[in-house]
Amino acid sequence: MAVNENLRTPIVSVMGHVDHGKTTLLDKIRGSSVAEGEAGAITQHIGATEVPIENIVNKCGDPSLKDRFIVPGLLFIDTPGHHAFTSLRSRGGALADLAIVIVDINEGFMPQTIESLQILKRFKTPFVVVANKVDRIHGWEPNKNSSFLASYNKQSERVKSDLDNKLYEVIGELYNIGFNSERYDRVSDFQRNIGVIPISAATGEGIADVLIILLGLAQKFLEGNLHYDATAPGTGTVLEVKEEKGLGTTIDTILYDGTIRKGDIIVVGSLGDPIQTKIRALLKPRPLSEIKAEEKFQQISEVTAAVGVKISAPNLEGALAGAPVRVVSPETVDAITEQIKSEIADVQIDTDSVGITIKADTIGSLEALVNELKKEEIPIRKASVGDISNRDIVEVTAIEDPFFTVIVGFNVKILPDAKEKLQSTDVTLFKNDVIYRLIDDYKDWVKKQKE
Ligand code: GDP
Ligand code: MG
Repeated sequence: MAVNENLRTPIVSVMGHVDHGKTTLLDKIRGSSVAEGEAGAITQHIGATEVPIENIVNKCGDPSLKDRFIVPGLLFIDTPGHHAFTSLRSRGGALADLAIVIVDINEGFMPQTIESLQILKRFKTPFVVVANKVDRIHGWEPNKNSSFLASYNKQSERVKSDLDNKLYEVIGELYNIGFNSERYDRVSDFQRNIGVIPISAATGEGIADVLIILLGLAQKFLEGNLHYDATAPGTGTVLEVKEEKGLGTTIDTILYDGTIRKGDIIVVGSLGDPIQTKIRALLKPRPLSEIKAEEKFQQISEVTAAVGVKISAPNLEGALAGAPVRVVSPETVDAITEQIKSEIADVQIDTDSVGITIKADTIGSLEALVNELKKEEIPIRKASVGDISNRDIVEVTAIEDPFFTVIVGFNVKILPDAKEKLQSTDVTLFKNDVIYRLIDDYKDWVKKQKE
């Protein structure tokens, strides 16, 4: 087997609790591969980094690997800020084909670790768990960029047993959430067991193992999902809506199928009617070596999935992170506009006649919040995307049931006039970047009110 021309690069998302090492891991995956004298091979995309199979194979020092894997490489999404992975969807599922859940081996599971795992379970996304910061284990002797096992075998018995104990804790916590797992080298069937890979994103130990296991998962689970059609109209998901000097509002987009060209007409999901607009420019970042160039971006005429690309076009102000982007023709424009509209409306409509009011930053995160509230049987009166506005407060003020004069906001801000308004009302506001915390806070509050 060799690289199959019609299989696109799998999209990998890195999830986990804040400070457990997501950014460091991505930097290491990027940086160390470049440092090995292969600068240029790693492609920096808008919002993503592509590591070709050659680099992964070289990292592992076994050239025969290349023939074992069919995908052209891995595309890692650099998920912006606090955006949950849920906000990144493709038609009907998660945008990411694979995921890495990172956990600090010395700290164990935290709310966002658990949240990440729940999301992966719901979308049935194949993933690995990396237990990061093994270099912090007392007495650990680092072996830069070595495979985990090679480094582990060189450690003292005490360090080994310390690591083993911490790893068992991670495996135990995974079990509590409903996943069977094992240290990655002991997993014989990745369909039944999740692989846990101890690593240090700081020293590079275990990184090669992570890449190889991800390729294996892609091979085993994704072959059927990765076929793409380069001749098809481009289809993607908005990663981030960004103001750029001289360009106006742009959308950073992950394209997961087809081809997109300068001059194409696209339809983009927004809070109101979907936006129909014409692509003025397609942009990619300039290579790192040219970082001093006056312009940050370079224009391209077309790109094919899977890539991250910045789209500049008129009227993108209302575009929504997490919403679909699709290239249309005069024949398809009406049908696709309707489709995108109903995709976004679906998330917002499914509510109860009485209940709390919820707001979230993206469609995907709103959907995740709705799902979790439903599990808890907490009724929702209105669910919408966007920051908390004066109007939201006014609407909620009119509700009589004190348990429902509540706004729950996930990853959103309170607009200044709403902040003022809030002080003169009985509306109770819950705001957090972790869904479980939000729900727990609300439940605790309800309990207290009833006492
Ligand atoms: P993120 O919030 O998940 O993106 O976490 P970061 O990558 O920003 O890492 C948080 C902190 O942990 C930073 O100070 C990193 O330098 C540090 N860190 C990350 N990975 C490691 C590791 O493997 N070993 C050590 N010792 N520190 C690490
Ligand atoms: Mg980070």
